[in-house]
Amino acid sequence: MFGLIGHSTSFEDARKKAQELGYEHIAEGDLDVWCSAPPQLVEHVEVKSPTGKSIEGAYIDSCFVPEMLGRFKTARRKVLNAMELAQKKDINITALGGFTSIIFENFNLLQHQHVRNTTLDWERFTTGNTHTAWVICRQLEINAPLIGVDIKKARVAVVGATGDIGSAVCRWLSTRTGVAELLLVARQQKPLIELQKELKGGRIMPLEEALPEADVVVWVASMPKTMEIKVDTLKSPCLMIDGGYPKNLDSKLDGSGVHVLKGGIVQFCKDIGWNMMQLAEMDKPQREMFACFAEAMLLEFEECHTNFSWGRNNITLEKMDFIGKASVKHGFSTLNLQLQAALA
Ligand code: NDP
Repeated sequence: MFGLIGHSTSFEDARKKAQELGYEHIAEGDLDVWCSAPPQLVEHVEVKSPTGKSIEGAYIDSCFVPEMLGRFKTARRKVLNAMELAQKKDINITALGGFTSIIFENFNLLQHQHVRNTTLDWERFTTGNTHTAWVICRQLEINAPLIGVDIKKARVAVVGATGDIGSAVCRWLSTRTGVAELLLVARQQKPLIELQKELKGGRIMPLEEALPEADVVVWVASMPKTMEIKVDTLKSPCLMIDGGYPKNLDSKLDGSGVHVLKGGIVQFCKDIGWNMMQLAEMDKPQREMFACFAEAMLLEFEECHTNFSWGRNNITLEKMDFIGKASVKHGFSTLNLQLQAALA
């Protein structure tokens, strides 16, 4: 059985969803009430691969909402409680979706293996970042040529280059895809210099200098909502792959030669018959999902019950090959630009 741990995109959405599901006592509560609400297993689902293999899974809502990010102890408790529930339900492999993997890493939850009388078994969890990185690279390879960008001549800015996903994307683009140049963007210089050494290339640049030079921009950092981008300084055409969470580039930039694509999203080959992706504002919630969630499904299909994506900067090209092959085999494809809209 696979599991997905997620959360609503806002407190308001969470309350609406709780009302729909009949959890009135929580729905009417204020943020303090939600802070003490336990995680809920809200949905069971069966997924059938084109290979004929069927797997079962469950969606656990952590009852975390982004408004709790500033409450360090609450955020930590929400993620650990949801993981404990997944383990108690004997789920083999569970993906940490949305902010939950970021909370896990940034708040160093590895130090908190004991939740009440449960010892969390890390092997049962994955961040899903390997599949996310592979999907983003494939989105670049498929969609850049569609808008007239020659990959071999392209300059690609990776915003969040030193992160878990960003560094994997850089490794793949420099060796497998063979882009002309990588522009490495992040705030801290030391990890950037280390990455540059590892890649034996790439130019370290501040964001505002990288953007006007880039044919493709891969966003794999959670950027502040207040971030301003001067559209008239961007190249035309320019492909923006918005892999961060939450996604907030579309409304600011789409149009006039700049094409924004939701990054790290995959589509299953048929309707799944679940409700959980409505929470995540997918265009086709019956088929589309975060690549990190799909990773848990793929590991279950492949009976690979291990914490496949774990810790920071451990994603290898071999792991990306494995999960990419499984993704295609089990009926997933990357979300791509709509050709007509892209060429308009
Ligand atoms: P990490 O925390 O490992 O990396 C974040 C990166 O962004 C670092 O390089 C960090 O470097 C950089 N960064 C952060 N803030 C800024 C800023 N203001 N300006 C420039 N660089 C910045 O995160 P992950 O790699 O795990 O995840 C990256 C993104 O992908 C997240 O937004 C996450 O939510 C999303 N994601 C999407 C998934 C999907 O399925 N679609 C799955 C998992 C994650 P520094 O601190 O030095 O600036």
